[in-house]
Amino acid sequence: MVTDLSTSEKKHLENLEDVINNHIDSFISCGKALSIIWKRKLYRKTHKTFDEYCSEKWQLSRSHVYRQIEAFKVSENVSHGGQNDHKPNERQARELAKVPVDKQQEVWDLAVAEAPEKNGKPKVTGVQVKKIVDKALTLKRGEYTDRVAQALASKSEFASKQQQISKLIQEIKALSQTPLGTFIKLQQLETDLRNAWQGLKFAAPFAPCGYCGQDGCKVCHNQGWVTRSIHKFTPSGLTK
Ligand SMILES: [Zn+2]
Repeated sequence: MVTDLSTSEKKHLENLEDVINNHIDSFISCGKALSIIWKRKLYRKTHKTFDEYCSEKWQLSRSHVYRQIEAFKVSENVSHGGQNDHKPNERQARELAKVPVDKQQEVWDLAVAEAPEKNGKPKVTGVQVKKIVDKALTLKRGEYTDRVAQALASKSEFASKQQQISKLIQEIKALSQTPLGTFIKLQQLETDLRNAWQGLKFAAPFAPCGYCGQDGCKVCHNQGWVTRSIHKFTPSGLTK
């Protein structure tokens, strides 16, 4: 990556920094400007990392900046195609950020629909948004736990397939001892079938995923459970 900025990038950065300077209190303007600087690495001429840029240039901590960018993204997400033209404030947007992107609009619409009216307009409060978000998260967690329990209870599906393979090995052995099985390459066949047996063993659900906790878990591919070998290598502090 070239550290120098092109003329248009320089201009772009200047404009974005003006926006931040003039709207430091608006999470939407700042969140948007910061997210562009981050994505396009416009900080790269003066700073090695985005974090350094934020703390030196703006005295903003990493967590503050990411929260602001997240809140801006939520606000963008629920401002399009919704049933209402109300926008969440920063606190509400940060609350909404806890639910998956495709559910944020639904939760926000519900908050607006349930809000008490003031001067003919719904007055959504932070407490109310938090309540609806918590409810949405509990429901989701419940579904998730059910799914994990179901998978772990179905381990026997794998065991029964493994038994079938063991039985098959015995049957092929017997066949190889008859004239009909003269050309069976027993050793090779047995190795292949034992590999298949192992393959099943290492693919079976074994324990709840210790890395989980939210969407997008790369370890369990969002299944909520892991195999024996992944479980074995999960740091003990994480296993449940
Ligand atoms: Zn996981």
